[in-house]
This record gives sequence, C-alpha cells and structure tokens, in this order.
Amino acid sequence: MKFSDLVVLGSTIIEFDPTVYLQDDCGCLIGMAAAAKHGIHNLDDGQCWVIFPWLHEKRELSCPVCGTVFPRASGSISCVAVHIAHRKITFDDALVYIRSIEPQEFDEDLECPEERVRI
Ligand SMILES: [Zn+2]
Repeated sequence: MKFSDLVVLGSTIIEFDPTVYLQDDCGCLIGMAAAAKHGIHNLDDGQCWVIFPWLHEKRELSCPVCGTVFPRASGSISCVAVHIAHRKITFDDALVYIRSIEPQEFDEDLECPEERVRI
C-alpha cells in the first residue's frame, strides 16, 4: 500500500494532531501512515524511518504552501500537516502533494498477476 493510502487509512483510526508524531491515539500525517501500517502503539520515530526510508533520504523539497525548503520529504510533509491545522491547505490537497512526491512502488503484499499467466 502506498504511503498516501496509509495516511487516508490512518486518518480513520487516529485523531489528527500535527504537533506529535504518534502519541495518545493522535498523530501527524506521517504518524497516520505509521499507525495504519503497524498499529498505534508499536512505533517510535526511529522505526518510522525504517518502514518509510524515503521520508528520511536526502532530497530537497519545498513545502507547497509556504515554500520553505527542507532537506528531506519528512520535513515538507510535516510542514504541510501544520498548514492543514491552520486551514491553509485541505487534507485532500495535502494528499495530492504527498502523491506527487512519494515513491510509485508496487504493493509488496501482492504478487504480479502477469507472473502467473502462461502463454
Ligand atoms: Zn509550509
């Protein structure tokens, strides 16, 4: 499942709070994705970089709302989360931004159906 889909799923299981990663059933956008993937009480900040390594890779990205440049995707996503709280961007528009920067990976839980087809 893509990170953005995990954020959507996580938004149904924890309360949005951009000031914390994942704490007391509340969390930021990254916390929502982590909660959807591994449960609410099972992860700390460090483990987050293990399950979503691309968030922590060096890559300059600017926040689509305020233009602040961050050295990692985690910074720009956290900045967007704060702007959601201040009603400068909608949750849906934040997802559009996340989809534009997240890896376009295949779901590791699914096999490629083509591999099972014999020609
Ligand atoms: Zn910003």
